[in-house]
Amino acid sequence: MSAAWQGRPLWAEVDLDALAHNVGVLRRRVPGSELMAVVKANAYGHGAVAVAAAALAAGATRLGVACVDEAIQLRAAGIEAPILVLGHSPPHEAAALVAHNVTATIDSPALADALSAEAQRRGRRSPVHIEVDTGMSRFGLAPVDAVAMGRALRSREWLDLEGLYTHFATADEADKAFTRRQYEALLWVAEQLGSVPVRHAANSAAVLDLPEMALEMVRPGIALYGIYPSNAVARSEELRPVLSLRARVARVHWLQPGQAVSYGRTWVAERTTRVALVPCGYADGLRRGLSNRAALLVRGRPVPIRGRVCMDSCMVDVTDLLEVAVGDEVTIIGSDGDAVLPIAELAELEGTIPYEILCGISARVPRLFLRDGQVVSATTLVSAAPTEIQ
Ligand SMILES: *Cc1c(COP(=O)(O)O)cnc(C)c1O
Repeated sequence: MSAAWQGRPLWAEVDLDALAHNVGVLRRRVPGSELMAVVKANAYGHGAVAVAAAALAAGATRLGVACVDEAIQLRAAGIEAPILVLGHSPPHEAAALVAHNVTATIDSPALADALSAEAQRRGRRSPVHIEVDTGMSRFGLAPVDAVAMGRALRSREWLDLEGLYTHFATADEADKAFTRRQYEALLWVAEQLGSVPVRHAANSAAVLDLPEMALEMVRPGIALYGIYPSNAVARSEELRPVLSLRARVARVHWLQPGQAVSYGRTWVAERTTRVALVPCGYADGLRRGLSNRAALLVRGRPVPIRGRVCMDSCMVDVTDLLEVAVGDEVTIIGSDGDAVLPIAELAELEGTIPYEILCGISARVPRLFLRDGQVVSATTLVSAAPTEIQ
């Protein structure tokens, strides 16, 4: 599928059909609600512009990001859907927020003042949301403060209180009791305020396990990318993984017994060993903690990483696969024939979660966007806007 790729011999394939499938699956779970595609952190490493466009085409109606710069990147690419900054915006960003028509989450009177002044200056009313901190203890206003802020916003001519939301701390766990309490706390604030048009709470785990909490809108992230939020979340819906990370073998060479591999000489050959160089290192997102622990796939077979993962490369043992040659495809995340390297397993080996591995795929890894198994566009470090591929 990416045989024609002539760029860096390390790339992420982003299957936009799988993404559209996942958007469809999630929408059907909560048919009465809008779907905000959470595309923060470069769409969890997948490539924000292409993913946002594909998610909107598949039925998402809004986008969620973590900071105004992420929103501006989408606006610069011509995306016009409503974008909400999920999190803190300092008041000095008010001008950028209003200029790019980006919705802020209000967490202070200072931000409300700054946005209101900017909105008035431009003669354009600005929608805003309030996040209620119902137990995550991260961002947002305590329920009583959210009520007070909501009432205060009502008297501001240039701001419209469009949304009210909360974020769940444990929706991906088997015990949903705390999530129910958080949900009830959000409903209480909404009731005090009368009508707020868009109430939203559900992350991926809640869309899958608690669709009754969908309200007017849901905010899935990880499930869009085909990854279940945790092992405790029901697998009742078939999500398709969107991203595969692949490379090409750059060198194959023999080691004699006693020869070691990589920094620190942590792996020493006990037999005559054939090693392949893979041009993917921790600066690309292959975490160093996987040194001597993970296996990658070549020709549909697992090949163990030998020695430490370096910044730009790692070495795998191909002694039992004599046919491996320079240019062979290596799968780091994803499937190769019948063999699969699920990201959840990689994450577990590393003591982390798939979210962190995906976000860690760095800007210098090209993203190839696929439709019908064909590469339709690409981004690289030197051309960050999706470039069409003929
Ligand atoms: C990241 C984030 C989401 C998406 O969470 P997933 O677990 O990836 O579905 C939703 N809402 C907020 C506020 C977030 O920060």
